[in-house]
Amino acid sequence: MMPYQGQVAVVTGGSSGIGLATVRLLLAQGAQVALCAREAARLEAVAADLSAEFGGGRVLARAASVLDPDAMAAFAGAVQARFGRCDLLVNNAGQGRVSTFADTSDADWRAEYELKLFSQIHPARAFLAMLRDSRGAIVAVNSLLAYQPEPHMVCTSSARAGVQNLLKSLSVELAPEVRVNSILLGLVNSGQWERRFAAREDQARSREDWYGALAQKKGIPLGRLGQPEEAAAAIAFLGSRAASYITGAQLEVSGGLSRHI
Ligand code: NDP
Repeated sequence: MMPYQGQVAVVTGGSSGIGLATVRLLLAQGAQVALCAREAARLEAVAADLSAEFGGGRVLARAASVLDPDAMAAFAGAVQARFGRCDLLVNNAGQGRVSTFADTSDADWRAEYELKLFSQIHPARAFLAMLRDSRGAIVAVNSLLAYQPEPHMVCTSSARAGVQNLLKSLSVELAPEVRVNSILLGLVNSGQWERRFAAREDQARSREDWYGALAQKKGIPLGRLGQPEEAAAAIAFLGSRAASYITGAQLEVSGGLSRHI
């Protein structure tokens, strides 16, 4: 199935984890894909692999932070120059912050709100004209924490709720030209969990055992963490023409971790 044949997709934070899995899936489904991330060396290595697998003409990689509006404008200019259009923007770049109210400083709060909100605002603004022209879509990667806050991730949870609110407004303001949806993740096995597994106290503990205990501790009904490819599948669906009547919606990809109806 090639639902993205002839289309152009942009994925922020495309050099790792969920972003990279999304880039791969969209390429496999026919899209030309532009990706950005801050660390140039990793991005270039990833881009070289993708170009070898899917053809260099279909991949554009640019080292840029979503927090830099000029860099996002230049990224959009590069996409316009190379591909001439943009049908899908996946706002995926970012990371969570583990801290309680007691140990979160004002600077931490500001940094977290800046990351969560401006990682949506800057790319959306930069690619908006192209998205309108192609009657395209934005898919944001957000977390269940937006609705189910965790005290040990207090500022991330709060900022993520703000992001959902922003996306709802965007979905109305940008309609009918551009659809705006999000996925709400539970725990997905990517860089951050791999780092915690590598640093586990009991180094003799197997991967299966460690991840199984984590899923049990978190109470995930499906009994395991999600894989980046499973998040990518939901993103690709929401961004595709198959979701043409869906906007302002959120799709949970959490193995049933959500406690609300
Ligand atoms: P990874 O750490 O594997 O990937 C994050 C990607 O984002 C990297 O490519 C990173 O590259 C890039 N990135 C980070 N900050 C910026 C920035 N300012 N500008 C541009 N690129 C940036 O993480 P995941 O795949 O797990 O996470 C993807 C998204 O999903 C994140 O927004 C995360 O918060 C969210 N999420 C993940 C969950 C999980 O369980 N994995 C749960 C809930 C939400 P570089 O560092 O080079 O910039």
